[in-house]
Order: sequence, then structure tokens, then C-alpha cells
Amino acid sequence: MNIPNTPIARKSLAEIIAGKLAASILEGRLSQGTQLAPERDLVKEFGVSRSTLREALKILLDSRLIESRVSVGWFVCEITSNNLARARELASWARSETAPVVRPAGQEPPTGPRRLPVNPEKPLQIPNLKTDRSGTFQLISWWEREKVENARVMVVGAGALGNEVIKNLALMGVGHILIVDFDTIEMANLSRSVLFRESDASRNKAEVAAARAKELNPNIKVQYIHGDITNQIGLGVFRRMDVIIGCLDNREARLALNRFAYWVGKPWVDGAIQELYGLVRVFIPGKGACFECSLTEQARRDLAVRYSCPLLARENVLLGKVPTTPTIASIIGAMQAQEALKIIHGMPVEPGKVTHFNGLTNEMHTSAYTAREDCESHWSYGEITELPLNAGTTTLAEFARIVQADLGPETVIELDQELILSLTCPQCGTREEVIRPMSEVGFKAAHCPVCGILREIEMTHTITGKESFAHLSLSAAGIPPLHVLRAFNALEYRFYELTGDLKDTLHFRHFERQDNRLMATAIRETIRLHDVTVSDEPSTNPAHGRVTLWKD
Ligand SMILES: [Zn+2]
Ligand SMILES: [Zn+2]
Repeated sequence: MNIPNTPIARKSLAEIIAGKLAASILEGRLSQGTQLAPERDLVKEFGVSRSTLREALKILLDSRLIESRVSVGWFVCEITSNNLARARELASWARSETAPVVRPAGQEPPTGPRRLPVNPEKPLQIPNLKTDRSGTFQLISWWEREKVENARVMVVGAGALGNEVIKNLALMGVGHILIVDFDTIEMANLSRSVLFRESDASRNKAEVAAARAKELNPNIKVQYIHGDITNQIGLGVFRRMDVIIGCLDNREARLALNRFAYWVGKPWVDGAIQELYGLVRVFIPGKGACFECSLTEQARRDLAVRYSCPLLARENVLLGKVPTTPTIASIIGAMQAQEALKIIHGMPVEPGKVTHFNGLTNEMHTSAYTAREDCESHWSYGEITELPLNAGTTTLAEFARIVQADLGPETVIELDQELILSLTCPQCGTREEVIRPMSEVGFKAAHCPVCGILREIEMTHTITGKESFAHLSLSAAGIPPLHVLRAFNALEYRFYELTGDLKDTLHFRHFERQDNRLMATAIRETIRLHDVTVSDEPSTNPAHGRVTLWKD
């Protein structure tokens, strides 16, 4: 499937509003010299935000269909041979509307029927509801079974939100679900996690959630990775997804996910909940604001302060716990899963906008973020060279040689994660050589064992291949399997994927039945998680795990 960043052929909300106004001018409902209603009335009439309305007015102004009279308002211009063609073009935008218009709660829909995209080739099929679990979906006019079954969706975070999202994706028959989480199950999770049971205590959330998704719908394929999204998931995993759903509880993880998604051009759906409040937002690289654009100055400052001691930043994140209820998790998780379903179908979504849900007043409102031109997340990788290499067996020196043969002898490898080289105590002067990725060095470990004070950290994020530690594997330097590495020769960047890791890293084979005979009796089987045996074969792949199935 290649829907994610191919632009959905439709007009923006602002263009549609401009088109509606242009049509009114052409049809004479708004005649020459007429003053437009005040902005606040137009905002209400069209059910859009002020910024969208202003964008629409700007289009009309640029098309010389309206003019501004200072401190009075907007007036309709005369239609002449100079602006007639443009007016007709704008008016056609309104007619081609397929985008649902966002309205404040309680307001009547705008005039004209809303059309859903109907797949014109969809053959009329009478599903067998006795044998086909997805049969009723066949009756939905726009449902495209093949798209849903072929879809690959990564769910990051298997907490309260993640449980709801995964449940919905599994029920809808989304064909490939990858679940990522680094946490384990505690008793307190059971009050808002439909997929977890008491017997799951201290098991990995990702693993249990994947097992239960497979149980809910054995037709789907699942995989789990017990790992941290900020540094343990290769970019090659991201680039093979159709959509990514963030069910996270902290800004740092969202920022990391946002950057990775941007680098490989994938849409992602963010959700956040707290007590009775929640929000949903879709980010599509290159289309409107991204998550980093949405951060306030204060949030940016907070992140900068945290990063002034990078080791502490990470540990603070792990402490952050947000109070939530299963009800708000259901509401927001359902909306996230539905947005993902729309993206899978290529239906219109509203990237760069946020929908807030206030559970106290049951009000919902949508507003647009402003895309920042100087946003550091806006970087797309472009062409990626696939190399038959593995993170676990390729050394830094070998990899440097390969990229230097391609890009010249001065080329360096740029790491995403700082590599800590040494820790030096400012008091006693002892220096300890470390050579470990930052995520593996704790805040406490960075203190001098004798003096107890924080040591100075020497670190690097570029590798030339000539370092004393260049014999280390890419994994040892903190590079996850199936990652895409950046090489830079002071003039250009090139990108190389460790494609040799593909087979083991992304397989969607967890909890698969061993053979067809077992498949036939699948209904009578239950997956007993306490009987799961994890193979102990050496592997750098955190996703490795085997499951034994038992018959009741
Ligand atoms: Zn941005
Ligand atoms: Zn010391």
C-alpha cells in the first residue's frame, strides 16, 4: 500500500470556504459592493476556525474577488474579464467538496449533503454473516476489505489508550498490528486495560496486548516489540507501516515518534488523555503543522531544560504517570483508531489540527496549529539504500568503510543517539571509559562511586570508523536492528538501511498457529500467557519470543 504520503486529492477547508464564497459572488447572491458579514458570523456560518476563515479570505483577496476597506470590512469586487476565470475555478472547489466540515458542537451541518467516498468498483456481495466475522463491514459503502486486511499499523504504547486502540484495530480486522511498549503490567493497569488479566502481572505489556489481539481476531497478524520507541526501534520498521498510532503519556516520546515519522514520510495519529479531557490529532509530514510545531514556547523551554542533563531527562520521563479513566481512554482511543481507518482507506483527514474533547461539558472543538518554518522536525530522508547488513554483526569500522566508498573518505556516520565515551569526576579526577549509548547509562551510574557527585560526560554522535572502539558492532553503539543510518560528507547526506535485519525484525508472526491442522481447531484453543516460553537463542532482536499453545 502506498497511501500514506501521496496527497489525498481534495481541497483544504480554506479553499472550500473560498470556493463557496466565490460561488455566491458568481451567482449574484453576493453582488458587487456588498459588505461581507463580520468574521465572527462567517466563522459560525461555515463552522471553521478564525485562521481557516482568514486563509479563505486571503484566497479571495489574492483572486481579486474581494477587497478590504480599512477598519470597515470586506467588500465584493466587480466580476470582470480579469477575475471571472479565477472565480469559476474557485467555485468549482466548493462543488468538489468531499471533506467533512468541522463544526462546533450543537451547530447544524452546513448546507448541502455530505458525501462519503464510495469505492465505485465495489462489487455487490452478500456476506455470509454466519461464517464471516468481517461480514457486516462489507455492508458499509466505503469499506474496502482488502485495504484493511493489507494494512500495517504500529501502535506505540500499550497502556489505557493503547489497549482501546488495539482492541478496535483487531475487531475491525486490520491485518497487521505491531505493538511497541517497554513497560510491564502492574495491578493498577487492570482498571483501564481491557486486554490485561490479573494473571498477567509483571508480564510485558506489548506481548500480552499482542496475544489478546490475536485472540480477539485470529485472522489478523500481530507482532510485539518490548522496547523503547525513542531509541530501540529501527527506522526501517517505521517506513514499512501505513500509519502509526501514538498512545503515549509523555512529550519526549511523542517528539521522537514525530521525528521518525517525518523522516520516512509516514502519517501518525496522536492521542492524549487526562481525567475527563482528551485530544486527538493527525500529523502527516509536509501537510500542515507537525507535533513539534504544536509545542508552545514554554513546552520548548521545558524540553531544553530537561535536555541540559540528558541522563536525567530520560529518567524523569519514566516517572511521569497521568491519572486516567477507562471511559476517556475508550472515547479517545476509538477516535484514534477511526482516524487510522480513514487513513488506511485514503479518506480525508485533517492533518495539523487538534480535536479537543471536554468530558465535563461534552463539548468537542477542532482548531488548526500553525506550521513553523523553522521547525527542526521537518526533514525527509528521501532515497534510502538497502544494504544486506545486520546491526548485530556489522562493526562501526565496516559500516564506515562502506559509506566512505560511496560518499568519499571524509564521510562520517551520524548517530541518532549520543554515544557516551567516558565519565570524568571533576573532584577526584578519575576517568572511566564507557562506550555505551546514552540510553544504557543511568543517571545514578553517571555519579562518581567515590565522591558521589555527577561526573562530566564525554560523548559523540559522529563516527569516522577510525575510533579506538570502531571494532564494536552497530548494536553495541546503540543502533537498533533494521535502522536507517545517516552518512554525511559535509556536502550531502545519504541514508542506508540495515535491511539484513528485516526478516527477524518485522515479521508479524507472533502467536501464529504452527500448522493448518491446528488452525482448524483454533477456536478451541486458548493462549495461556503463563505458559509462554521465550527462546533463549542469542539475538539482538528484542522482538524474539516463542509461544507454546495449549489445548484446553
Ligand atoms: Zn513541525
Ligand atoms: Zn570522584
